[in-house]
Amino acid sequence: MSNIEQRLQQIEQNIQNACERSGRTRSDITVIAVTKEVSTERAIEVMNAGILDLGENRTEGLLAKQESIQKDAKWHFIGNVQSRKVRDLVNTIHCLHSLDRMSLAKEIQKRADQPIDCFVQVNVSGEETKSGVNPEELERFIEEIAAYDKIHVIGLMTMAPFTDDMEYIRTLFRQMKELRDKISVKQWEHAPCTQLSMGMSNDYEIAIEEGATHVRIGTALVGKESGETT
Ligand SMILES: *Cc1c(COP(=O)(O)O)cnc(C)c1O
Repeated sequence: MSNIEQRLQQIEQNIQNACERSGRTRSDITVIAVTKEVSTERAIEVMNAGILDLGENRTEGLLAKQESIQKDAKWHFIGNVQSRKVRDLVNTIHCLHSLDRMSLAKEIQKRADQPIDCFVQVNVSGEETKSGVNPEELERFIEEIAAYDKIHVIGLMTMAPFTDDMEYIRTLFRQMKELRDKISVKQWEHAPCTQLSMGMSNDYEIAIEEGATHVRIGTALVGKESGETT
């Protein structure tokens, strides 16, 4: 078995355990392999191991990998999007996890050939350095997006802060689920908002226990090629 297959097997076991602890179903969860720190070769390896959802956080990295990976990859864009890059990006991705401002929505509206599935990024920890919509402004933000018919809000996304305090991370994930539920009960046509993108290498099990539908796993799955750590 390859290194990646072994890691995936361990991650699958952890996901299964987290599902059992929280009464969830494995098939409700999508694992996104974050390939931003690894080569195209390794991205192909993870696809061969069965993960077809790939995450990139830079437009250049995404386009470079797309050139050599035509296969059934589904591309998730998880990074900050500069408005001037929207044109190159928006019609090549499966979904965008980082819709974080109205000016970006406006640019997507202008450049998208068809409606794009988006997660609205939420700054749930309130850290000043983090991007994302503030929780207090979220409802209005999503309501206003109804004006842009090229945007389909499928859920919310967050990045937990760098901390060892797992209980704090858990409370943030729990708040995200509450925010998600508050939007989804409105049954807005442009924003079903049923999905929750949260959890990375260090906290995906907690995220799943708290309701994540998409986990974004980089280092723990594909490693890191500049100075391998795991
Ligand atoms: C890099 C990155 C990840 C993956 O991080 P790991 O800790 O390597 O699993 C997930 N989400 C976003 C938004 C990222 O930028």
